[in-house]
Amino acid sequence: MDDCIFCKIIKGEAPCFKVYEDEKVIAFEDINPVTEGHTLIVPKEHAENLYEISPESLAAVHVASQKVIHAIKKALDPVGVVAVQLNGRAVNQIIMHYHLHLMPRGADDPPLGASHCGTKPGDMDALKKTAEKIAAAVGE
Ligand SMILES: [Zn+2]
Repeated sequence: MDDCIFCKIIKGEAPCFKVYEDEKVIAFEDINPVTEGHTLIVPKEHAENLYEISPESLAAVHVASQKVIHAIKKALDPVGVVAVQLNGRAVNQIIMHYHLHLMPRGADDPPLGASHCGTKPGDMDALKKTAEKIAAAVGE
């Protein structure tokens, strides 16, 4: 994709603060970090989102994320790390090239929004119906 900033970074046509790279994946610092060490794990294959990414690239992103989270732990010693992946502009995906965010949280950082989505006790009947609907659609 010619106008995709992540594809430009992958091709070396745009700069990044790289922390990891292998055959299928690159990881670099988010230039608008939520917290120190906010890192993006990006497949080299251009795929917009979880709907489109190949199983091979998806697996590679998550295997790489495990290497990077260990490095973040060693380098920054966070109290926790949020892993977030957004699909669609309606949920604030800004770069339309699949990426997984790793956002470490230090002891003094404010709570990360992604881990405070407003959970509440669920209605068991509604949960059962929703689970049945999704389960029926798996593999369709
Ligand atoms: Zn791209």
